[in-house]
Amino acid sequence: MYVIALVGGWWLAMTHWSVAPIWVTLIYPAVMTAYMGQRIFISLKRWNARPGRAELERWHGKIKFVTVVSTGLFTLWMLSFFPYGDPDLQVQTLFVIAVMFFVIIFTLMNLRKMMILSTLLANGIYLAYFYNYNQQQFLFVAVFLALVSCGMVLVLNMQYLDFVKLIHTSKDLKAQAEELERKQVETWELSEQNYHIANHDSLTGLPNRRCFLAELDKRFETAKVAGTPLVLCIFDLGGLRTINEIYGVKIGDEVLLEVARRLDQKLSSQSFSARLAGDEFAILANNGDFDLPWAKAFFRDMFAESFSLPETQVRLSYHAGLARLHEAVASPIVLLEKAVYAQQLGKRNKNDPVVLFDADHRAQMTLNTRIAQALRSPAIVDEMSVAYQPIVEIESNRIIGVECLARWNNAELGSVPPGSFIPIAEQSGVINRLTLDLLIKALVAAANWPDDLRIAFNLSATNLSSRGFAVTFLELLKEHRFNPARLTCEVTETSVLWDFTEAQKTIQILKEAGIRLSLDDFGTGYSSLSHIHNLPLDCLKVDRSFVSGIRPETTGYGIVKSMIALCRDRGILCIVEGVETRAELEVLKNLGARYVQGYLYSKPLAREDLDALLRSGRTIEPAPYEETRAVGS
Ligand code: C2E
Ligand code: CA
Ligand code: CA
Repeated sequence: MYVIALVGGWWLAMTHWSVAPIWVTLIYPAVMTAYMGQRIFISLKRWNARPGRAELERWHGKIKFVTVVSTGLFTLWMLSFFPYGDPDLQVQTLFVIAVMFFVIIFTLMNLRKMMILSTLLANGIYLAYFYNYNQQQFLFVAVFLALVSCGMVLVLNMQYLDFVKLIHTSKDLKAQAEELERKQVETWELSEQNYHIANHDSLTGLPNRRCFLAELDKRFETAKVAGTPLVLCIFDLGGLRTINEIYGVKIGDEVLLEVARRLDQKLSSQSFSARLAGDEFAILANNGDFDLPWAKAFFRDMFAESFSLPETQVRLSYHAGLARLHEAVASPIVLLEKAVYAQQLGKRNKNDPVVLFDADHRAQMTLNTRIAQALRSPAIVDEMSVAYQPIVEIESNRIIGVECLARWNNAELGSVPPGSFIPIAEQSGVINRLTLDLLIKALVAAANWPDDLRIAFNLSATNLSSRGFAVTFLELLKEHRFNPARLTCEVTETSVLWDFTEAQKTIQILKEAGIRLSLDDFGTGYSSLSHIHNLPLDCLKVDRSFVSGIRPETTGYGIVKSMIALCRDRGILCIVEGVETRAELEVLKNLGARYVQGYLYSKPLAREDLDALLRSGRTIEPAPYEETRAVGS
């Protein structure tokens, strides 16, 4: 703007050199040149400046003033030539004035207020000047110029407003995009968190069952395709339940945390460990070294150090099952089943808690599958029978009752012992039906026996924890007009603890009907005295493992002695199981035992044999000394 004004101004000065006075052609232009030179200098200085907001506002304030002054000075400068020129020069001056108008308007178009102010000021001066000038056509030119410049300002103003709107819109868009990005980050973080929660155990931070199954699938596929080793190990802790019961769940949680810490410390980074549930953990190792000796040493080392409890230290036991991937393992689930199977064996085997699934186990598992299938066959009702083992009062040799024991003779499998098929019947969900079928058989047989002969009947964990089982059980007694007071139900500690709350409800229903309750295999399970106090027991059965070869110097002696004393204190019956020899009987008699059950008196008998025995009287003699071992073998 300044450069164009100078060029225009000096051009007019030169063309008016001979007609205008010196203050118009030289002095005024020189002053204007100095002023505008200074403005140009300042502008050039600021050319590359990147002012802050405060600085910009300060400049803006100054520019308002400078603009008004500059516009005023230009206008007056241009007009100063006007009275001295002939009509040609006047037209030339008007041309420069018009050009300057456009220059001012365009250069100020981004400073809207300044543009309007300058236009009004310049127009005001020109209109006032030409109004007072005596030639009308110049006033017309001034009015026309005012109209054109105002129209231009109007158009530019509208453009300016559109431009501002555009900036706002782009600002809004930018803000929206930023917000969207922030939300995306937030969503991503949330989904990361959700993924972590869904796949990790909140207590130990270890991957959970879901995550473990996914990892198992992944590693299984990779190992199968690449032919690399894969070992799956499942293990659980012994005694955590007792710690929870005695010290509370918080201390139990501490123990679990410590186990997770030790796992993390001792396992290589390629191995994957997870907490499956409660006290159950899993390890996946692609390392071929993770074999049986390694696993045994690993667990021995991991559990060698004791765990700190309030005021004491305990060493935890564990049971681990390992399964290795090979051609016969068709799917990840099969591998898992094998590891679980091996772990169950580890639980039963007290001397060796770490078991690797091998060919023998595979054969056993196949047999178990066949047993499970056969148990589902409709022929099962006919194939099953009940054997009855007398329970005898030592003093009088009188049979006070019989224990009902399941017997199964299958066409293909032959005679399957209850110790084999009862757990499978539990797992495959047929145990309730089976128990009720056996009960019916026992009730039918008992109809012929003396009214005071007691019947002991075994119940399993599933029986106790199934709602509605007790009701059906009692309905059957009613149907067969069997007096519930004659019946004793035998339960084990393990079966009661399986689902203690439900078991308690079942037991209560049975007890209210008048049925007696007996704790079977006492001494082999948790043997927690609190259970004896919490259950409405009428009888306790001492397990035969304490009886075999019992002598005053054996550990069984002390245990049986205290069990008999415990029953006497609590006023409940004590039956000692598995008595096989006269020597054992003598020792038991000396300890004060009154009731026994065992091969020494009788093996479990078929219904007809027991019928015959009862017909010949209620007493039974123990086998003579020389025969006792033969009977037991
Ligand atoms: P249990 O309830 O402890 O039954 C006693 C077991 O000891 C019976 O084995 C019996 O034959 C055996 N036995 C009795 N006297 C002697 C002896 O002097 N020496 C030796 N070595 N053994 C003796 P069985 O019939 O093989 O039953 C094994 C287990 O299967 C039972 O142990 C019981 O837990 C379970 N069982 C049997 N029948 C049923 C049933 O109908 N329902 C349920 N839930 N479980 C059953
Ligand atoms: Ca029993
Ligand atoms: Ca028993």
